[in-house]
Amino acid sequence: MVEAMLAHAAHDRPGEACGLLAVDSQGTVRFVYCLSNADASPRAFTIAPDEYFGANRHAERHGWEIAGMFHSHPDGLPVPSSTDLAAAPAADWLYIVIAKDQLRLYELADRRFRLVGSLGTDFEKAANRPPLTRVIG
Ligand SMILES: [Zn+2]
Repeated sequence: MVEAMLAHAAHDRPGEACGLLAVDSQGTVRFVYCLSNADASPRAFTIAPDEYFGANRHAERHGWEIAGMFHSHPDGLPVPSSTDLAAAPAADWLYIVIAKDQLRLYELADRRFRLVGSLGTDFEKAANRPPLTRVIG
């Protein structure tokens, strides 16, 4: 799943890449949806609404719930921006930000981001992989 997010982030450069995470009833992330950024911008993202809907339907069919999202900061830091906070879902979600050399996992609760983990990444290596197919059920 991490590889899928990295490949998606590398593929959508110089734009921001985005997607959703499906979580099972135990709270385990079961599926990553690599989706289109309707803004097609290096500074902002909006998950394409029809794909958002498709990911929800796919997750529901599997007994999962959409409870997290990821996006990239192609030339920034792996830190949510004030814009990210303003646009963040009200629910308590997992929130992943991918920057050039790091992926960081945050918990979103009470309108605050709490860092829970980070991972070193190699963007250039991910960029050389063939893009993964966008999967929507
Ligand atoms: Zn952001």
